[in-house]
Amino acid sequence: MRKTRFLAGASIIAAGLLALTACNSGTPGAEGGSEGGSGDAPVYGAVATDVTIENSPTFDKIQSAGKVVVGVKEDQPGLGYLDPVTGERKGFDVDVARWIAASLGYDPADTSKVEYKAIASANREQALINGDIDYYVGTYSITDKRKEQISFAGPYFLTGQGLLVAADNDTITGKDSLTAETTVCSVTGSTPIQRIREQTPAQVVEFDTYSQCVEKLKNGEVDAVTTDEAILLGYAAQDPDNLKIAGEPFSEERYGVGLAKGDTAFQEFVNTMFTDGGETWQAIFEKNLGASGVSGEQPAVDPVS
Ligand code: GLU
Repeated sequence: MRKTRFLAGASIIAAGLLALTACNSGTPGAEGGSEGGSGDAPVYGAVATDVTIENSPTFDKIQSAGKVVVGVKEDQPGLGYLDPVTGERKGFDVDVARWIAASLGYDPADTSKVEYKAIASANREQALINGDIDYYVGTYSITDKRKEQISFAGPYFLTGQGLLVAADNDTITGKDSLTAETTVCSVTGSTPIQRIREQTPAQVVEFDTYSQCVEKLKNGEVDAVTTDEAILLGYAAQDPDNLKIAGEPFSEERYGVGLAKGDTAFQEFVNTMFTDGGETWQAIFEKNLGASGVSGEQPAVDPVS
Protein backbone atom coordinates (compact mmCIF):
# COMPACT_ATOMS: atom_id res chain seq x y z
CA MET A 1 0.00 0.00 0.00
CA ARG A 2 1.16 3.50 -0.62
CA LYS A 3 -0.17 6.88 0.23
CA THR A 4 0.83 9.92 -1.71
CA ARG A 5 -0.63 13.33 -1.78
CA PHE A 6 -0.13 15.09 -5.05
CA LEU A 7 -0.92 18.76 -5.13
CA ALA A 8 -0.15 18.97 -8.83
CA GLY A 9 -3.51 20.44 -9.70
CA ALA A 10 -4.27 22.70 -12.61
CA SER A 11 -3.33 25.87 -10.77
CA ILE A 12 0.10 24.57 -9.88
CA ILE A 13 0.74 23.48 -13.46
CA ALA A 14 -0.42 26.87 -14.71
CA ALA A 15 1.95 28.57 -12.29
CA GLY A 16 4.77 26.32 -13.46
CA LEU A 17 4.10 27.18 -17.08
CA LEU A 18 4.03 30.88 -16.25
CA ALA A 19 7.32 30.52 -14.47
CA LEU A 20 8.87 28.91 -17.49
CA THR A 21 7.72 31.57 -19.90
CA ALA A 22 9.03 34.19 -17.54
CA CYS A 23 12.51 32.69 -17.29
CA ASN A 24 12.98 29.77 -19.55
CA SER A 25 16.72 29.40 -19.50
CA GLY A 26 19.78 30.74 -17.85
CA THR A 27 18.03 31.41 -14.58
CA PRO A 28 20.65 31.24 -11.89
CA GLY A 29 19.73 29.04 -8.99
CA ALA A 30 21.00 26.54 -6.52
CA GLU A 31 21.55 22.99 -7.69
CA GLY A 32 18.21 21.27 -7.88
CA GLY A 33 16.97 24.68 -7.18
CA SER A 34 13.88 26.72 -7.24
CA GLU A 35 12.21 26.56 -10.60
CA GLY A 36 11.69 30.12 -11.49
CA GLY A 37 12.06 32.38 -8.58
CA SER A 38 10.41 32.99 -5.30
CA GLY A 39 6.84 31.95 -4.85
CA ASP A 40 6.49 29.99 -8.09
CA ALA A 41 5.40 26.37 -7.95
CA PRO A 42 8.09 24.02 -9.21
CA VAL A 43 7.38 22.41 -12.56
CA TYR A 44 7.74 18.93 -11.09
CA GLY A 45 4.87 19.40 -8.66
CA ALA A 46 4.59 19.50 -4.90
CA VAL A 47 6.61 17.43 -2.45
CA ALA A 48 4.42 14.54 -1.29
CA THR A 49 3.95 13.75 2.38
CA ASP A 50 3.34 10.51 4.28
CA VAL A 51 4.68 8.33 1.47
CA THR A 52 5.08 4.63 2.08
CA ILE A 53 6.00 1.93 -0.40
CA GLU A 54 5.77 -1.56 0.99
CA ASN A 55 8.23 -4.25 -0.07
CA SER A 56 10.55 -1.88 -1.89
CA PRO A 57 14.24 -2.34 -1.01
CA THR A 58 15.01 0.90 -2.87
CA PHE A 59 12.50 2.91 -0.85
CA ASP A 60 13.75 1.34 2.41
CA LYS A 61 17.30 2.36 1.49
CA ILE A 62 16.19 5.92 0.68
CA GLN A 63 14.30 6.18 3.97
CA SER A 64 17.20 4.98 6.06
CA ALA A 65 19.66 7.29 4.23
CA GLY A 66 17.21 10.20 4.52
CA LYS A 67 17.96 11.21 0.94
CA VAL A 68 17.54 10.17 -2.67
CA VAL A 69 20.58 9.50 -4.86
CA VAL A 70 19.83 9.89 -8.57
CA GLY A 71 21.96 8.92 -11.55
CA VAL A 72 21.90 11.47 -14.39
CA LYS A 73 23.71 12.80 -17.44
CA GLU A 74 25.20 16.26 -17.27
CA ASP A 75 26.42 17.08 -20.78
CA GLN A 76 23.18 16.69 -22.75
CA PRO A 77 21.48 20.08 -23.22
CA GLY A 78 17.68 19.98 -22.91
CA LEU A 79 17.78 16.55 -21.24
CA GLY A 80 20.43 16.23 -18.55
CA TYR A 81 22.71 19.22 -18.23
CA LEU A 82 24.87 20.82 -15.56
CA ASP A 83 25.22 24.51 -16.36
CA PRO A 84 28.93 25.24 -15.89
CA VAL A 85 28.25 28.91 -15.15
CA THR A 86 25.38 28.73 -12.67
CA GLY A 87 25.96 25.20 -11.34
CA GLU A 88 22.29 24.50 -12.00
CA ARG A 89 21.08 21.14 -13.28
CA LYS A 90 18.54 21.43 -16.05
CA GLY A 91 16.65 19.38 -18.56
CA PHE A 92 13.72 17.10 -19.16
CA ASP A 93 15.37 14.06 -17.53
CA VAL A 94 16.56 16.10 -14.55
CA ASP A 95 13.03 17.39 -13.97
CA VAL A 96 11.65 13.84 -14.29
CA ALA A 97 14.22 12.78 -11.67
CA ARG A 98 13.05 15.67 -9.44
CA TRP A 99 9.40 14.72 -10.01
CA ILE A 100 10.13 11.21 -8.76
CA ALA A 101 12.03 12.54 -5.73
CA ALA A 102 9.20 14.95 -4.90
CA SER A 103 6.65 12.14 -5.27
CA LEU A 104 8.71 10.07 -2.82
CA GLY A 105 8.57 12.94 -0.31
CA TYR A 106 12.08 14.36 -0.89
CA ASP A 107 12.37 18.03 -1.78
CA PRO A 108 14.51 18.53 -4.91
CA ALA A 109 15.17 22.13 -3.86
CA ASP A 110 16.93 20.84 -0.72
CA THR A 111 20.44 19.72 -1.71
CA SER A 112 20.70 17.55 1.41
CA LYS A 113 17.66 15.52 0.27
CA VAL A 114 18.46 14.87 -3.38
CA GLU A 115 21.96 14.06 -4.57
CA TYR A 116 22.94 13.67 -8.25
CA LYS A 117 25.64 11.43 -9.65
CA ALA A 118 26.73 11.76 -13.27
CA ILE A 119 27.05 8.28 -14.71
CA ALA A 120 28.14 7.50 -18.27
CA SER A 121 26.06 5.25 -20.53
CA ALA A 122 28.39 2.25 -20.16
CA ASN A 123 28.27 2.32 -16.34
CA ARG A 124 24.53 2.59 -15.67
CA GLU A 125 23.66 -1.04 -15.04
CA GLN A 126 26.62 -1.51 -12.69
CA ALA A 127 25.76 1.64 -10.72
CA LEU A 128 22.26 0.26 -10.14
CA ILE A 129 23.53 -3.22 -9.30
CA ASN A 130 26.03 -1.75 -6.81
CA GLY A 131 23.36 0.43 -5.21
CA ASP A 132 25.46 3.55 -5.94
CA ILE A 133 22.25 5.24 -7.07
CA ASP A 134 18.59 4.68 -6.20
CA TYR A 135 17.35 5.27 -9.74
CA TYR A 136 18.67 6.57 -13.06
CA VAL A 137 17.06 9.11 -15.37
CA GLY A 138 19.20 9.87 -18.40
CA THR A 139 18.20 8.98 -21.98
CA TYR A 140 18.21 5.32 -20.90
CA SER A 141 16.56 3.10 -23.51
CA ILE A 142 14.56 0.13 -22.30
CA THR A 143 16.07 -3.03 -23.81
CA ASP A 144 15.65 -6.74 -23.09
CA LYS A 145 19.40 -7.10 -22.63
CA ARG A 146 19.52 -4.39 -19.97
CA LYS A 147 16.45 -5.93 -18.32
CA GLU A 148 18.55 -9.03 -17.59
CA GLN A 149 20.47 -6.90 -15.07
CA ILE A 150 18.12 -4.12 -13.99
CA SER A 151 14.45 -3.10 -14.16
CA PHE A 152 12.82 -0.10 -15.82
CA ALA A 153 9.82 2.05 -15.03
CA GLY A 154 8.20 3.75 -18.01
CA PRO A 155 8.66 4.40 -20.85
CA TYR A 156 8.26 8.13 -20.20
CA PHE A 157 9.60 9.37 -23.56
CA LEU A 158 10.06 8.17 -27.13
CA THR A 159 12.71 9.23 -29.63
CA GLY A 160 14.79 7.60 -32.37
CA GLN A 161 18.40 7.31 -33.45
CA GLY A 162 19.66 10.05 -35.75
CA LEU A 163 22.80 11.63 -37.18
CA LEU A 164 24.39 14.98 -36.39
CA VAL A 165 26.70 16.42 -39.06
CA ALA A 166 28.40 19.68 -39.97
CA ALA A 167 25.92 22.26 -41.28
CA ASP A 168 27.67 22.30 -44.67
CA ASN A 169 27.73 18.50 -45.09
CA ASP A 170 25.47 17.50 -48.00
CA THR A 171 26.90 14.00 -48.42
CA ILE A 172 25.41 12.41 -45.31
CA THR A 173 21.66 12.40 -45.76
CA GLY A 174 20.68 9.52 -43.49
CA LYS A 175 21.73 6.07 -42.30
CA ASP A 176 21.85 4.58 -45.80
CA SER A 177 24.28 7.23 -47.02
CA LEU A 178 27.00 6.05 -44.61
CA THR A 179 29.90 4.25 -46.31
CA ALA A 180 33.12 2.54 -45.25
CA GLU A 181 34.79 5.95 -45.66
CA THR A 182 32.46 7.66 -43.18
CA THR A 183 33.67 8.05 -39.59
CA VAL A 184 30.86 8.10 -37.04
CA CYS A 185 31.28 8.84 -33.34
CA SER A 186 29.10 7.44 -30.57
CA VAL A 187 29.24 6.38 -26.94
CA THR A 188 30.48 3.15 -25.37
CA GLY A 189 27.71 0.90 -24.09
CA SER A 190 24.92 2.73 -25.92
CA THR A 191 22.24 1.27 -28.18
CA PRO A 192 23.13 3.63 -31.10
CA ILE A 193 26.77 2.52 -31.27
CA GLN A 194 25.65 -1.08 -31.47
CA ARG A 195 23.09 -0.35 -34.20
CA ILE A 196 25.49 1.73 -36.34
CA ARG A 197 28.01 -1.14 -36.18
CA GLU A 198 25.41 -3.75 -37.08
CA GLN A 199 23.55 -1.86 -39.78
CA THR A 200 26.15 0.27 -41.63
CA PRO A 201 29.70 -0.13 -42.98
CA ALA A 202 30.82 3.13 -41.29
CA GLN A 203 34.00 3.35 -39.21
CA VAL A 204 33.07 3.84 -35.59
CA VAL A 205 34.91 5.96 -33.03
CA GLU A 206 33.77 5.74 -29.40
CA PHE A 207 33.95 7.90 -26.29
CA ASP A 208 32.31 7.96 -22.85
CA THR A 209 30.09 10.96 -23.60
CA TYR A 210 28.31 12.51 -26.55
CA SER A 211 29.81 15.94 -25.88
CA GLN A 212 33.24 14.45 -26.61
CA CYS A 213 31.88 13.22 -29.96
CA VAL A 214 30.43 16.66 -30.72
CA GLU A 215 33.86 18.22 -30.13
CA LYS A 216 35.39 15.75 -32.61
CA LEU A 217 32.69 16.64 -35.14
CA LYS A 218 33.36 20.37 -34.73
CA ASN A 219 37.11 19.77 -35.16
CA GLY A 220 36.47 17.81 -38.34
CA GLU A 221 37.92 14.61 -36.86
CA VAL A 222 34.68 12.64 -37.45
CA ASP A 223 31.97 13.02 -40.09
CA ALA A 224 28.94 12.42 -37.88
CA VAL A 225 27.74 11.80 -34.34
CA THR A 226 25.03 9.22 -33.85
CA THR A 227 22.64 8.85 -30.95
CA ASP A 228 19.01 9.65 -30.13
CA GLU A 229 17.58 12.57 -32.05
CA ALA A 230 16.37 14.21 -28.83
CA ILE A 231 20.00 14.39 -27.67
CA LEU A 232 21.34 15.57 -31.04
CA LEU A 233 18.73 18.35 -31.27
CA GLY A 234 20.10 19.78 -28.02
CA TYR A 235 23.62 20.01 -29.45
CA ALA A 236 22.35 21.40 -32.77
CA ALA A 237 20.37 24.08 -30.94
CA GLN A 238 23.53 25.19 -29.11
CA ASP A 239 25.42 25.71 -32.38
CA PRO A 240 22.96 25.98 -35.29
CA ASP A 241 25.48 27.73 -37.55
CA ASN A 242 27.79 24.72 -37.53
CA LEU A 243 25.65 21.64 -36.77
CA LYS A 244 22.53 20.05 -38.23
CA ILE A 245 20.54 16.81 -38.08
CA ALA A 246 20.83 14.68 -41.26
CA GLY A 247 17.89 12.58 -42.40
CA GLU A 248 15.16 10.82 -40.47
CA PRO A 249 15.36 8.79 -37.23
CA PHE A 250 16.02 5.09 -37.82
CA SER A 251 15.10 3.36 -34.56
CA GLU A 252 12.69 3.66 -31.68
CA GLU A 253 14.31 4.49 -28.35
CA ARG A 254 11.96 4.20 -25.37
CA TYR A 255 13.33 5.98 -22.32
CA GLY A 256 12.85 4.30 -18.98
CA VAL A 257 13.85 5.03 -15.40
CA GLY A 258 16.56 2.55 -14.44
CA LEU A 259 15.87 0.71 -11.17
CA ALA A 260 17.34 -2.11 -9.12
CA LYS A 261 16.28 -5.38 -10.70
CA GLY A 262 13.10 -6.87 -9.33
CA ASP A 263 11.97 -3.91 -7.20
CA THR A 264 8.47 -4.15 -8.62
CA ALA A 265 6.95 -2.06 -5.82
CA PHE A 266 9.19 0.89 -6.73
CA GLN A 267 8.58 0.25 -10.44
CA GLU A 268 4.81 0.32 -9.91
CA PHE A 269 5.09 3.50 -7.85
CA VAL A 270 6.92 5.33 -10.66
CA ASN A 271 4.64 3.89 -13.35
CA THR A 272 1.57 5.06 -11.42
CA MET A 273 3.11 8.50 -11.11
CA PHE A 274 3.62 8.63 -14.89
CA THR A 275 0.12 7.29 -15.59
CA ASP A 276 -1.64 9.69 -13.25
CA GLY A 277 0.64 12.67 -13.79
CA GLY A 278 -0.02 13.68 -17.38
CA GLU A 279 -0.23 17.37 -16.55
CA THR A 280 3.06 17.35 -14.71
CA TRP A 281 4.68 15.42 -17.57
CA GLN A 282 3.40 17.99 -20.05
CA ALA A 283 4.66 20.91 -17.98
CA ILE A 284 8.11 19.30 -17.69
CA PHE A 285 8.13 18.62 -21.43
CA GLU A 286 7.09 22.16 -22.37
CA LYS A 287 9.66 23.73 -20.10
CA ASN A 288 12.59 21.72 -21.39
CA LEU A 289 11.82 20.44 -24.89
CA GLY A 290 8.80 22.44 -26.02
CA ALA A 291 10.85 24.48 -28.48
CA SER A 292 13.12 21.62 -29.61
CA GLY A 293 10.98 20.08 -32.32
CA VAL A 294 10.59 16.63 -30.68
CA SER A 295 7.18 15.05 -30.11
CA GLY A 296 5.37 16.09 -26.96
CA GLU A 297 3.19 13.03 -26.62
CA GLN A 298 3.57 11.05 -23.43
CA PRO A 299 3.82 7.28 -24.08
CA ALA A 300 1.82 4.70 -22.12
CA VAL A 301 3.86 2.79 -19.56
CA ASP A 302 4.72 -0.87 -19.99
CA PRO A 303 2.96 -3.36 -17.76
CA VAL A 304 5.15 -4.45 -14.85
CA SER A 305 6.70 -7.76 -15.79
N1 GLU B 1 19.14 5.91 -25.51
C1 GLU B 1 20.38 5.31 -25.91
C2 GLU B 1 20.87 4.34 -24.86
O1 GLU B 1 20.25 4.19 -23.85
C3 GLU B 1 21.43 6.34 -26.23
C4 GLU B 1 21.59 7.46 -25.27
C5 GLU B 1 22.52 7.16 -24.13
O2 GLU B 1 23.61 6.60 -24.34
O3 GLU B 1 22.17 7.53 -23.01
O4 GLU B 1 21.87 3.68 -25.04
